[in-house]
Amino acid sequence: KAKGEGRGTFRFFEAALGNQVRMQRAIELDLREAIGKGELEVYYQPQLELATNAIRGCEALLRWRHPRLGFVSPAQFIPVAEKIGLIARLGEWVLREACRAAADWPVSVRVAVNLSPAQFRTSDVVQVVGDVLAATGLPARRLELEITESVLLQDSPQVIAALHALRGMGVGISLDDFGTGYSSPSYLLRFPFDKVKIDKCFVSADGMDARAISVVRSISRLAAELGITTTAEGVETAEQMERMRDAHCTDIQGFLISPPRPLRELRRFLGMDLEAEAA
Ligand code: C2E
Ligand code: MG
Ligand code: MG
Ligand code: MG
Repeated sequence: KAKGEGRGTFRFFEAALGNQVRMQRAIELDLREAIGKGELEVYYQPQLELATNAIRGCEALLRWRHPRLGFVSPAQFIPVAEKIGLIARLGEWVLREACRAAADWPVSVRVAVNLSPAQFRTSDVVQVVGDVLAATGLPARRLELEITESVLLQDSPQVIAALHALRGMGVGISLDDFGTGYSSPSYLLRFPFDKVKIDKCFVSADGMDARAISVVRSISRLAAELGITTTAEGVETAEQMERMRDAHCTDIQGFLISPPRPLRELRRFLGMDLEAEAA
């Protein structure tokens, strides 16, 4: 009996693994063509400043609608893009789309774009950002770049120099997913970030115990002392928003305010295109 069960379990895993391998291969093969085929789209998620209740920024989040697999998560295909050497092209495409879109938004709304560590290794990020800003006409101060601690883990003087050059241009630099992975307060000393984004694990229902709130409060206090803002990610309920306010976070982002939206919907959310609607 035990033997039979073992076999069944093995078959099950084998099949699941086979599916995963096939899926991985499909993603690798199809991703190269996804841009050209128009399967990729940048969505935008608004960020709210708690003190004013105003939308002060939107994060660009990449979406891929695969013709057979359906919606594929960026958490799944960004690592593939890094692996097959496609991230620089993909990242530049997102940056261009996002800056072009934002150039048209109210000037009080910035756009935040995620940068992968591989983009620092395989492309001249400073040059690319400069070119895109010039081409789209977006003022540098309205662009924010989000990096995770893994960018700093490379501990390369070139990366730090690139970040300083970007900041020198006027671009904001945010530390994303703070509090997860290997991130520690020491990363805040390696580079003068403009903003810290507190990972959603501290905000979510599971994470929202007293200890998580204490961590958020201490991160916010540290950030305030450094003169930088804190955005809490993944805020889904009014109660979570109030807890983040109590913990002195300056901004929030999450489904409570809005899910990531296609550009047209985002514009309507920002109160643009109203005359077109009325007509
Ligand atoms: P991230 O930069 O930390 O983005 C925040 C993630 O949280 C997004 O997932 C967003 O959709 C999700 N989120 C927002 N509000 C809520 C909420 O209230 N509850 C919950 N549970 N989740 C929420 P998404 O869009 O699936 O992106 C996942 C990750 O993929 C991003 O994490 C980012 O690291 C990466 N990514 C997305 N777009 C790009 C891109 O253009 N370039 C690069 N390099 N990475 C990207
Ligand atoms: Mg981000
Ligand atoms: Mg994040
Ligand atoms: Mg993340």
